[in-house]
Amino acid sequence: MALAGIAAALGLPCSALAASRIDSVRLWPAEEYTRVTFESHSGIHSTLFSVENPERLVLDLDDVDSGPALKAMAKLLKPEDPYIKGIRVGRFKPHVLRVVFDLKTKVKASSSLLEPVGDYGYRLILDIYPETPADPLMALLDKHEAEAAAHAPAAPPEPHQAEAPASGEPAVNGPPVPPVPGLAQVPAAPALSAAGAPTIVAQAPKPRSDSRILIAVDAGHGGEDPGAHGRGGTYEKNVTLAVARRLKALIDAQPGLRAVLIRDGDYFIPLQGRTAKAHRYHADLFVSIHADAYINSDARGSSVFALSEKGATSVAARWLAKRENDADLIGGININRKETYLAQTLFDLSQTATINDSLKVARAVLGELGQVNALHRGDVEQAGFAVLKSPDIPSILVETAFITNPDEERRLNQPQYQEKLANAILSGIKRYLAANPPLNKARAIQSGLKGKQLAVSP
Ligand SMILES: [Zn+2]
Repeated sequence: MALAGIAAALGLPCSALAASRIDSVRLWPAEEYTRVTFESHSGIHSTLFSVENPERLVLDLDDVDSGPALKAMAKLLKPEDPYIKGIRVGRFKPHVLRVVFDLKTKVKASSSLLEPVGDYGYRLILDIYPETPADPLMALLDKHEAEAAAHAPAAPPEPHQAEAPASGEPAVNGPPVPPVPGLAQVPAAPALSAAGAPTIVAQAPKPRSDSRILIAVDAGHGGEDPGAHGRGGTYEKNVTLAVARRLKALIDAQPGLRAVLIRDGDYFIPLQGRTAKAHRYHADLFVSIHADAYINSDARGSSVFALSEKGATSVAARWLAKRENDADLIGGININRKETYLAQTLFDLSQTATINDSLKVARAVLGELGQVNALHRGDVEQAGFAVLKSPDIPSILVETAFITNPDEERRLNQPQYQEKLANAILSGIKRYLAANPPLNKARAIQSGLKGKQLAVSP
């Protein structure tokens, strides 16, 4: 008998039998945006709207049981979440489960349902981001420049330091927040329109007054996208962030050089968003950090890749590029968020010259990595890595070591080894820059670097 028939026989509305369950809920707080993920083995129907005074977001889930994942959801919230102050879950109507997010500030929000991919079932993603996009990277650059101008390091207060509610309890600031049964009193407001979402990286690039060479350091993966994982439980996204942070610190300690982290937290950034960020900051170089994986745990060694315009240099490189490019599927792009990136229309103009430069950086970095680890391949390979598609920024992708090799996984977790990898990448970058100073940075080379840190014989 069909479900509808059973329901009719029992005198129940059909939806009573169709209720689905949220299998897990995940929270990825970050300054750039906080993502909430609801995962289910079946599709999820939902409505999102906002309520003011006090600021709240309301997500109504249709025909969903309040299982353990939803019941425990509020415990996921950390006091330092930039946007969410409290989470309440309750039955609003017989077939509607209501999730209320009490907010610390005015926000924009947008939700999207992702199809199953990899190990994931259906995912309903809710992205919460500031009404006026904060710009941690630009804030960092401005801070650098202010410090350089003042010759006295200052520590301006961090943006978005909202007061933390105590121990995960819903904070009661302003008007009293009704208890869960009071959820029904939340008035419905018009559903948020996707058109209200800001374009996060489409602004015209700010001119840079700093003459230092800027290196964009990209920690691969993040958030919903863990990347590859080792048998010991190490996630690629954590190793890449650790090495990237070390590399940034080493770069910043060099006169004439400075670095920005494309990702500085456990959240996902789409691949095109990463290159767009590097553009926005007028980066001179782009270095994406990863850890390799293979079914055979014997595979080992470091490798470095550049973009190819005409097919991969090997089958292995093509497969690797495909796996890395799948990050967007796993990480989950919110199609309703209308993220727009720099137009790629300039793509053909200077790509060949840029790839030639990318190959030079890649070879220099590969040579230095060979001092701290075995090389997986003797030469730089090329393939269609989406994250390397910058028209005019030499870009490389470093596979630091194999996370699937137990010995290399162990070393990838060691701070000393992470520092060695970061140092090798820096040495390669310096070797490249000494031989190929960016034209508009010649002054920086001459004034700050000549005869000093860049005195690496090419
Ligand atoms: Zn990766």
